[in-house]
Amino acid sequence: MVFPIIGYRMCSVLRSKVQSLGSYIHRDPWWCIPFVVSSRTRPLTKVMGWTKTYCGRAAISSFKEQQPEDSSNCHRLSPENKGLGVEKMAETDANQDLFDLMKKRFLSFKKHTYIKELEHFQALAEAQSPKFMVIACADSRVCPSNILGFQPGDAFMIRNIANLVPVMKNGPSECNAALEFAVTTLKVENILVIGHSSCAGIETLMNMQDVQQTRNFIHKWVSNGEVAKLRTKAATSHLSFDHQCRFCEKESINQSLVNMLSYPWIEDRVKRELLCLHGGYYNFSNCSFEKWTLDFKESNVTEEGKSYAVKEQEFWG
Ligand SMILES: [Zn+2]
Repeated sequence: MVFPIIGYRMCSVLRSKVQSLGSYIHRDPWWCIPFVVSSRTRPLTKVMGWTKTYCGRAAISSFKEQQPEDSSNCHRLSPENKGLGVEKMAETDANQDLFDLMKKRFLSFKKHTYIKELEHFQALAEAQSPKFMVIACADSRVCPSNILGFQPGDAFMIRNIANLVPVMKNGPSECNAALEFAVTTLKVENILVIGHSSCAGIETLMNMQDVQQTRNFIHKWVSNGEVAKLRTKAATSHLSFDHQCRFCEKESINQSLVNMLSYPWIEDRVKRELLCLHGGYYNFSNCSFEKWTLDFKESNVTEEGKSYAVKEQEFWG
């Protein structure tokens, strides 16, 4: 098997912080044919721009007047509580303490963020116009807002086990309902699927024997990644189970990108270059992030998951 070597070499090259490596094409079952340099790279559309919608200044002034210079609640915040995350919930035992900490965090957010950027937050109260839809794992360690700095209004977000997107034929789900709203109503310009290292959902998928026999909700859900699992097994059977899981964590992201094209309202906007589909992989062991974009023109998805290509790969770390 050649691919894993290429794959690790690829990571090594990426670590040298090359910003754009062009495209590589994945043609089943030959996993990762080496990079095909492509001159067709399209910069990401401008991201995370604040939404500018009308907001009456009178309303803002009125709101500000209602806020004491340093309200009693905010006054309770000791200097060490002003930075979020100073106190860790995991280190707090009693439920009451947990909500006390949550309250402090909320009031700190209100005082140090909301009121300071009141015009922006009042505009957001009227409308949202996020540039991104983000699909990430429900894992508590991989919150996209924390690791990538998404601010209120930046990203319409859904999190599920193993950050999977089912194909359209599998029927309605929370995930595709959120996708439909983000794409057809909000008209987001980017969808980013974020996977991560040591994903328990992917490990469950890789360990699963026969999904038909199970009534386990988790098994039924992660079976949406079955195609990625089969591809992983075919390409990495000589590797350890852990390495297979690392491989599948990335392959399942690409499978989700391909699965999104089974929804005509997504495929149409991708074809018209109104929407870009991106993958992201957060390794929390070494705090690195890989980002890439599905190369729709170089992909062949007429048969489900037949082949795909990616471009604009970057390694941050
Ligand atoms: Zn996960």
